[in-house]
Amino acid sequence: MAKVKVNHDACVGCGVCASMCPDVFVLGPDGKAIIVEQYRGASEAEGEIPDDLVDCARSAADSCPQQAITVE
Ligand code: SF4
Repeated sequence: MAKVKVNHDACVGCGVCASMCPDVFVLGPDGKAIIVEQYRGASEAEGEIPDDLVDCARSAADSCPQQAITVE
């Protein structure tokens, strides 16, 4: 498992993460990225994902123009 978090203040809603890794990220009602419901934690902007999704989440984090995603 890995923890994944989206910094809502930094996210500009470009959608790159949701298209690169739709199993983890989705755009929420306000147009900013959130974690898919299945893996959501205390808030919709953070959660825990299984190991087989870590690579795609990291790729999305690397591609985020705002560096708004952390995976640890
Ligand atoms: Fe937001 Fe970054 Fe995802 Fe773009 S790639 S929607 S800025 S978290």
